[in-house]
Amino acid sequence: MPAKTFYLETFGCQMNVHDSERVAGTLQAQGYAPVGNMQEAELILFNTCSIRDKAAHKVFERLASAKPLARQGKKFGVLGCVAQQEGEAIYRRAPHVSLVAGSASYARLPELLRDLEAGAGRVSGLGAADEAFETELTRRGNPFRAYITIIEGCDKHCAYCVVPYTRGQERSRASAAILREAAELAGLGYTEVQLLGQNVNSYRDPAPARLDFAGLLAAAGEIPGLRRVRYTTSHPRDFTPAIVTAMGRNPVLCDHVHLPVQSGSDAVLARMRRGYTRARYLELIAAIRACPRPLAVTTDIIVGFPGETDRDFEQTAELLGEVRYAGAFIFKYSPRPHTEAQTWADDIADEVKTQRLMILQQRQQQIQMEDNQAWVGREVEAMVEGRHPKLSQWTGRTSSNRVVNFSAPEAAPAPGLAILGQPAPAPAGFTPGAYVRVRVERAGANSLVGHQVA
Ligand code: SF4
Repeated sequence: MPAKTFYLETFGCQMNVHDSERVAGTLQAQGYAPVGNMQEAELILFNTCSIRDKAAHKVFERLASAKPLARQGKKFGVLGCVAQQEGEAIYRRAPHVSLVAGSASYARLPELLRDLEAGAGRVSGLGAADEAFETELTRRGNPFRAYITIIEGCDKHCAYCVVPYTRGQERSRASAAILREAAELAGLGYTEVQLLGQNVNSYRDPAPARLDFAGLLAAAGEIPGLRRVRYTTSHPRDFTPAIVTAMGRNPVLCDHVHLPVQSGSDAVLARMRRGYTRARYLELIAAIRACPRPLAVTTDIIVGFPGETDRDFEQTAELLGEVRYAGAFIFKYSPRPHTEAQTWADDIADEVKTQRLMILQQRQQQIQMEDNQAWVGREVEAMVEGRHPKLSQWTGRTSSNRVVNFSAPEAAPAPGLAILGQPAPAPAGFTPGAYVRVRVERAGANSLVGHQVA
């Protein structure tokens, strides 16, 4: 019997990317085969993001453009955050959809699929979950960096954020299951794992080991075969010096912390319900800067939050100069459903939001350009990710998550090539996933450039 086929398109964050890997694994176990386009698929799934208005709209645009395919008997499904946010209203907006499931319902996917195959017109999984989704079925998309979810959901309820509504309450996985998964991945040849959660610092081990996040991180760093352990996303409210101590002790724990600040103004932080002040945040930055090994810090910032004054904005701009982030994701505020701020006047004009966004982006680019010059003349270790799409160079990442584009000495041309009289450069003596040493020759705002030395 020909395999049932599915096409899965993913929007949004790394959590969604990894959720899609687990959904794909579950579908394969149900006898579905993945295909690369909608035309070949019987089941077309969109794993969605609703962190900003624009993101949420994308799925309805995709559904509308794909609607003609429904006449060929294809089935459509909406997964993830928009599924949980909009629920069965999706069937009204896109009547050709027959499956809607939030991330807290992925454990029920096999049953939902069976009901669909048995002829049910529509099936929905929109309940809450009080346990993390455990599955062995993961179809990993990245051959050398593996994601591991350690905690799902979020209990913080920042005033602007829809995640607690779409992903539910915090649910930590047992440390033994996480560490076993990491060891199995190392056994499969993965050298880099990334621990994922909306707020990894809130990790609370449900198992007797009762590890906190610093303890889990330290244990993951001891797994034989792993060379790099990354984690994202942190929250200043739960970030502790113990995490920095663990990182300082073991270079397998990568030199990078992503610590979203969102604003540099206490007044805005208070209205955002972030639960920390500018001063407290800078104390955490000082603790990170005191780590024996230099750690790169990146962040997230929202501009144009309701009531953000010029002075509030200046404080955020000044914070960039004070912290000197290695990178920053800066977004314009957009009201989200089911959030406290949704009922507040979105009183910052869009052009002002755009102005503030551009000012911060330019300032941050300048800081990155200045600070990256410090790497020129130094050697860095990069994990090779592949050939740069545009440059005839290789590209990879340092432990501090900086992009490195580099040239590599060509290996001796294979004899076969010579016979053809076409002395073409043979590829370098390594493959993606390898670790190489690169001498940095120059640096831009977003990448380092050099040549391989070992
Ligand atoms: S910590 Fe705040 S911003 Fe982050 S996921 Fe939770 S509610 Fe959203």
